[in-house]
Amino acid sequence: MIEPVDAFSNTKPTMGALMRRHHMFLIALLSSRFAIAQYPTPQGTAVPAPLARQNPFSAASSLPFQAPPFDKIGDADFQPAIEEGMTRNLAEVEAIANNPDAPTFANTIEAMERSGAMLTRVQRVFGALTQSNTNPTLQRIQADEAPRLAAHRDAIYLNPKLFARVKAIYDQRDTLNLDPESKELVERYYRNFVRAGARLSDADKTALRALNKEQSQLTTEYRKRVLNATNASAIVLDTKEELAGLSDADIAAAAEAAKSRNMPGKYVLTLQNTTQQPPQTYLENRALRERLFNGSVQRGDGGPNDTKAIASRLAQLRAQRSKLLGFPNYAAFNLDDEMAKTPENAIKFMTDMVPAATEKARGEAARMQKLIDQQGGGFKLQPWDWQFYAEQVRKAEYDLDESQVRPYFELDHVLRDGVFFAANKLYAITFKERKDVPIYHPDVRVFEVTDADGKPLALFYADFFSRPSKSGGAWTGAFVGQSKLLGMKPAVYNVENFTKPASGQPALLSFSDVTTMFHEFGHALHGMFSNVKYPTLAGSSVPRDFVEFPSQFNEHWALEPTVFANFAKHYQTGAAMPQALVDKIKKSRTFNQGFATTEYLAAALLDMAWHTLSADAPLQDVTKFEPEALERYHVNMTEVPPRYHTTYFSHIWGGGYAAGYYAYLWSEVLDDDAYYWFREHGGMTRANGQRYRDLILSRGGTANPAAMYREFRGRDPIVEPLLIERGLAARPPG
Ligand SMILES: [Zn+2]
Repeated sequence: MIEPVDAFSNTKPTMGALMRRHHMFLIALLSSRFAIAQYPTPQGTAVPAPLARQNPFSAASSLPFQAPPFDKIGDADFQPAIEEGMTRNLAEVEAIANNPDAPTFANTIEAMERSGAMLTRVQRVFGALTQSNTNPTLQRIQADEAPRLAAHRDAIYLNPKLFARVKAIYDQRDTLNLDPESKELVERYYRNFVRAGARLSDADKTALRALNKEQSQLTTEYRKRVLNATNASAIVLDTKEELAGLSDADIAAAAEAAKSRNMPGKYVLTLQNTTQQPPQTYLENRALRERLFNGSVQRGDGGPNDTKAIASRLAQLRAQRSKLLGFPNYAAFNLDDEMAKTPENAIKFMTDMVPAATEKARGEAARMQKLIDQQGGGFKLQPWDWQFYAEQVRKAEYDLDESQVRPYFELDHVLRDGVFFAANKLYAITFKERKDVPIYHPDVRVFEVTDADGKPLALFYADFFSRPSKSGGAWTGAFVGQSKLLGMKPAVYNVENFTKPASGQPALLSFSDVTTMFHEFGHALHGMFSNVKYPTLAGSSVPRDFVEFPSQFNEHWALEPTVFANFAKHYQTGAAMPQALVDKIKKSRTFNQGFATTEYLAAALLDMAWHTLSADAPLQDVTKFEPEALERYHVNMTEVPPRYHTTYFSHIWGGGYAAGYYAYLWSEVLDDDAYYWFREHGGMTRANGQRYRDLILSRGGTANPAAMYREFRGRDPIVEPLLIERGLAARPPG
């Protein structure tokens, strides 16, 4: 199985109130299955220490679904397992490359699909834990191994004998009688080799290797600094009075957060990844709102965790890398392999939406300014005021109070009677909690998923609560990927950052959290329903601008009346949510969408600005580049800063979303359009669910995504459903 670029480009996610999700999808499918070829370590030659006999990664797990034996895995196991995994993988790949027999699909492509089993096992677990339960030891291993794994990938992709075999098969692909999936796999391999530099001269290959190594070091360092800066920017408060406006549960959580940081008696407001911070919605103390906001936007800007130089070098380095590969800039390189195809298509898609979004945002700002003036505020609306006054407008115009709805969204109800219930209605799958499967943290829960025909389908892990060892946001990945060739069924996980309730208290979610659960579970379904032969094409191995389609699509079921009524029950009385309150939630969905769309477009266009720089452009000054870029695309509203500033935009600098942040909105076109197909065809029926599963969810990357979508929808996607859903276009009557 071959993965694009950075073997550690796992995840980095995000979420915020008032927004549709923009979580990163965790590519836990990474794991090149190839070995490092005589690549020297920073210290010398790579000679892994002999593997302890009991290393838990050395053989396939004997647990159900080959679940990782977390009860036997210690921090000390990872580095030797990664090293040994690379060594074994090297031997396998060398054997394939040096095979004296003429290249065939079986002895080359399929043989590569079978290679790298140990490395895959350890990387999937290691990649997951460095995001969801990291510590200084794991961070050090990650820093050590990231450049070595990048070099390992290069050793495979830049191996001329191996490429010659892949190319020979690619050239004959139309005469080999391959089934469609196998043919797709051949094309994928060939494309990945070419995109990794297989056709370059030796001198250019050497230059590329150096850039790849530097990139992997810089992305790892960027992630580490953002995590450190985010933890360091948490706001510590001495008195409860300062938190006026927050709910009792949020205050208790702030006290708990202080306790876990050895500051008993104090209160800690922790930061989320995004620019805007959820407590700003409630904090009455304007100075504290400003302080929280400043703590957020100053992350990575100065101090020991400064990320500016890393970001500007990464932008330059990626441009240089792309030039070597024959592209004018990184965005052109990246989008060549996406559904959008060119940066021009993606940029136009977004700039077409800018006027409607900013006009709506300006209207929202004017409405709030009026409110401030009516209250005799005597100040101009600032970004740290936005959510606070937006909430007041929401209460006044929609009469919806977040604290009124939370008691109806108790986590376990949402999970079992909402998320699982919807999946059962559509796909007839069932869930049983298992307490006997080892876990990596006491908060993690495991469910066995049974298919409609009664056969075991997958294992599903859920890790809901925030903690300092976890990156911000929400994401999905797999400890075990599906493959008929390898006889493997999926073990998939969802990670979220819900506030952990004080002990003994129920976890009461916001509607935004509820939506997050449905979102991540949509990714999980994509992994669990995967029904393909080859691991490289399994589950979410689809273009980035397609990968958020199943997840965002699944969000729609949260508000489906039969689903909603089933899970939205008062946690104490069991009473259904009053219809008036349900109506308010629905009505308020388009509320603040001018802001949400604008802050998203600003971040996504900023991403494009960075990644359309050419290779000969000088290193950019972040503090000048960013405002100029925002102005160029007309998304420079003071009150609506980008959802991420350059200095903490982990999606693009620390994750796999470089020149790809637009993908969420692109996928949203698909998900809204697909949802409208359901509405036009009788809604949430078992038959419709099966059709969607068969034509989209089960197919992974075995077919062209545009063609797959067309087969499901009967035509190409259109943007109107998205504009209607976001309130940027009028809903048609009826
Ligand atoms: Zn997602």
